[in-house]
Amino acid sequence: MTAYQEMLDLIGNTPLIKLKRASEETGCTILGKAEFLNPGQSVKDRAALGIIRDAEKRGVLKPGGVIVEGTAGNTGIGLAMVGAALGYKTKIVIPRTQSEEKKIALRLHGAELIEVDAVPYANPNNYVHYSRRLAEELAETEENGAIWANQFDNVANRDFHIATTGPEIWKQTDGKVDGFTCAVGTGGTLAGVSMALKERNKEIKTAVSDPGGSKIYSLIKFGKDETEGGSITEGIGQGRITANLEGAPIDDGFRIDDADMLDVLFKLVMEEGLCLGGSSGINICGAIRLAKELGPGHTVVTVLCDYGHRYASKLYNPEFLREKSLPTPAWLS
Ligand code: PMP
Repeated sequence: MTAYQEMLDLIGNTPLIKLKRASEETGCTILGKAEFLNPGQSVKDRAALGIIRDAEKRGVLKPGGVIVEGTAGNTGIGLAMVGAALGYKTKIVIPRTQSEEKKIALRLHGAELIEVDAVPYANPNNYVHYSRRLAEELAETEENGAIWANQFDNVANRDFHIATTGPEIWKQTDGKVDGFTCAVGTGGTLAGVSMALKERNKEIKTAVSDPGGSKIYSLIKFGKDETEGGSITEGIGQGRITANLEGAPIDDGFRIDDADMLDVLFKLVMEEGLCLGGSSGINICGAIRLAKELGPGHTVVTVLCDYGHRYASKLYNPEFLREKSLPTPAWLS
């Protein structure tokens, strides 16, 4: 009999898929790591499992304890799902602005949601700081204690990508990978995969694909703490070098517009049968830019982070797009 022993065994070991249009356009092989196939339907299942296993190992997460996190959604879904399978409760602090679909998924996985106003990181009521305070309070009052997952600065996140995502890409390409790029939320994926790949071949070119409003592009490319514009994408964009990004070997960066991201996503739906979220679109645009820099014949890998279904009311909603003066394809109307 061939059977997985538990849901957790389904996390990781996702396949690579060749992105046809992107490959044809560049003369390269552009491959997407199909992270939407994880059981929680996003790349963040990996961070969730990595953080929980690390807390157990360090003895800070006790049986029946509470996991607290501030998250744009996908990490929370992963934490709630993995937490449930391992007997932990999950409390998620989420900015009100995040998509309803993600909030529904969180509730369906048993998380308790605390919705807060979306305010900048510098504000003490930012969802990240709020979640840290809540975890500190619950550590005192909950019978089995509580931990703060702290995905941004807890390097158990990046370590899990060093141990799994990076080596998987190396193995799946038989070491014939020339470039890797993805966007940054916590930076766990970009830093972890880049570290794992560079350790095997330091010639592999790594780059951040950054949406408007994020500072990572200018920090990495020019060492400047600045940004411009904004983005309708969720879960990506960052204003500082998180602990997960600290010391990551990133060679280059690309600033990606929402209009380009949407164009790639809408074509993927109609031509390749893939309905993906905004960060996947940013990543594919970045992979195309990296492939063009490397020249024809190279292999570039990126990450397909989650499904588009999680953004039906936004990215794939013609009214929402028209309001933002963004392109809306006829088939969507
Ligand atoms: N894409 C999506 C949809 C996400 O939710 C996230 C994480 N917030 C990312 C990409 C970025 O991943 P990381 O946190 O590893 O930088």
